[in-house]
Amino acid sequence: MIAPRRPSNRARGARQAALRPVMRLACALLWGAACGTLQAEPQAEPFDIAITVDDLPVHGELPPGMTRVGLAREHLRILKAHGVPQAYGFVNAGQLAREPDSVAVLDLWRQAGHPLANHGYRHLNLDRAPSLEAWQSDVVLGEAAVAARMAGADWHYFRYPELAGGDDAAKREGALRFLQQSGYRVADVSVGFSEWLYNAPYARCMAAGDNATVAAMRSQFLAEVERGIARMKTQARQLYGRVVPQVLLTHIGAWNAATMDAVLTRLEAAGARYVTLAQAQQDPAYADPGGGMLMQRAADKAGVQLLAVAVDGPGLELQGLCR
Ligand SMILES: [Zn+2]
Repeated sequence: MIAPRRPSNRARGARQAALRPVMRLACALLWGAACGTLQAEPQAEPFDIAITVDDLPVHGELPPGMTRVGLAREHLRILKAHGVPQAYGFVNAGQLAREPDSVAVLDLWRQAGHPLANHGYRHLNLDRAPSLEAWQSDVVLGEAAVAARMAGADWHYFRYPELAGGDDAAKREGALRFLQQSGYRVADVSVGFSEWLYNAPYARCMAAGDNATVAAMRSQFLAEVERGIARMKTQARQLYGRVVPQVLLTHIGAWNAATMDAVLTRLEAAGARYVTLAQAQQDPAYADPGGGMLMQRAADKAGVQLLAVAVDGPGLELQGLCR
């Protein structure tokens, strides 16, 4: 657990200093002579991480025999087994009308003690929204279903759909001002493993009974997760001189239900300690909210090129699997 901290002026100064590029940490030094061959750190440096789950109650394709409620139960089982104290579920309330059977997902989430927050009614991407006003309406429309289940608790976090924080200054600043005036904090994202890309091929391969391909997908995905964890740590050290508290983005899909147990196990082996979203975002690294990924945003702002660690090699053509 991290001690409560508020971003002071001194902390802001330290953050700016920490953002100066630390390019002397060469790939070879960190990961052994061959950068392409990722090696385990000799000692895993502990770091804090908040787990978040997007697109409740409906995300992605369902393999045969699975239900939205079943996926939610599996997510909750895994979170409990790993001792995750809090996992915000970000809700697209518009899905409740489209798949009425999924309503129980939100209630199960609350019964398990995890909070809900807003992810827009229709999952409207701010960059592609017809106007800032249309996007704001979508945010407001998403509130009732969340507020009704969060009586007396804090649901004023907003996760930008598709992490789109505005493709011009007017949208970016207008959206942030609107969220702030509405009492929201942006739920930032510092790390994700793009697990949602696997939902469609997973559903197809399960329907085809192609267990060998599912196994190949799993080993490829978990190798990507390990590289992603290494990249996260390297880039955090490059930008801030330390592994700042992380916020993990996942989605309530079938592939996440199938792999989150293994993902959390790998994070724990790398030094993860679970914290709440508020605890993670107390860190000065989260002082300037916005769209996209935290560390990329910070690097762009500081004019720093993020270190590339062991780029993912050519892998399975996910779109073509089990067709
Ligand atoms: Zn989403």
